[in-house]
Amino acid sequence: MHLAPPPLVDPFARAIGYLRVSVTDRCDFRCVYCMAENMTFLPKAELLTLEELDRLCSAFVRLGVQKLRITGGEPLVRKGILTFFRAMSRHLASGALRELTLTTNGSQLARFAADLAAAGVRRVNVSLDTLDAAKFARITRWGRLPQVLEGIRAATAAGLKVKINAVALRGFNEDELFALVEWCAAEGHDLTFIEVMPMGDMGNEDRLDQYWPLDDLRARLATRYTLNDTPERTGGPARYVRLAETGQRIGFITPLTHNFCESCNRVRLTCTGELYMCLGQEDMADLRAPLRASGDDALLEAAIRAAIARKPRGHDFDYSRQSVAGQVSRHMSHTGG
Ligand code: SAM
Ligand code: SF4
Repeated sequence: MHLAPPPLVDPFARAIGYLRVSVTDRCDFRCVYCMAENMTFLPKAELLTLEELDRLCSAFVRLGVQKLRITGGEPLVRKGILTFFRAMSRHLASGALRELTLTTNGSQLARFAADLAAAGVRRVNVSLDTLDAAKFARITRWGRLPQVLEGIRAATAAGLKVKINAVALRGFNEDELFALVEWCAAEGHDLTFIEVMPMGDMGNEDRLDQYWPLDDLRARLATRYTLNDTPERTGGPARYVRLAETGQRIGFITPLTHNFCESCNRVRLTCTGELYMCLGQEDMADLRAPLRASGDDALLEAAIRAAIARKPRGHDFDYSRQSVAGQVSRHMSHTGG
């Protein structure tokens, strides 16, 4: 008789049901809080092939992962990525996977939305910090707002539920808080704000200057709307409120003001097969070596279990002493946001 393997449970009794996979470190944008303008990307040989990504993700699904989020870099610039989405849809069909989703900058959505929907994707997170074309060009360095808006329209037309993710940036999109909320309400998109995290080398960019605590954003929102707390969770780290006036749901991802680690059910896989058990810690496990060492998945599964047994209690990001503590040296595009 074939017995299902025991599920992945970490030392703090958190069952790991959510895998985020960065399928490329490359991107067609250069958002200032995410990448330097001149990035050196990994040589192709370092990357997991699409077949290897399939084997790895399938191993996690076999071990109980029910939610798979594809990210990057920009996932839709990875060559052949649709093949990968189509391959993963077999796990949706079998019922092992409950959700297959992605986080994207939206630039390629006009091209891919219909095929993603056909592969079983139901929801997509699109990152959009501003509705002003000039500011958009400034924050993404290389992005064009009309292309992203067209992508979002294509996603909606294909039946995908769009959630907008906006990084809250002091002095940048503070003045657009209500415009963003109203636009999302009119278009029927959920909206989540994210606190900027101290990732990557700071260079000329001072994250402390950009940091706009969501407590403050929330208080400003409350000057115009009635915010009702909701217990809803979507399996991610966001907390939600509903605006009584519009009925719309607004999320807050607050790694800095409210630590959400105690309920963390996630691990992150990079495009080279490194498994990060926590976004905010340096510890990782190399899964590429056991993957390539044998065509059989026994070594790989053992490596996954050993890694989960090392998942730390939480991260150590802290801006509270007016300096950036707990910073990790990786760029967000490396671990996959
Ligand atoms: N390229 C895709 C995108 O932009 O949605 C997926 C990868 S991107 C790294 C994922 C998310 O991380 C985006 O919403 C982005 O705004 C966010 N992000 C990047 N750097 C960040 C930082 N330093 N602090 C907080 N969020 C960040
Ligand atoms: Fe690219 Fe996304 Fe990073 Fe912006 S946030 S540079 S779109 S990976």
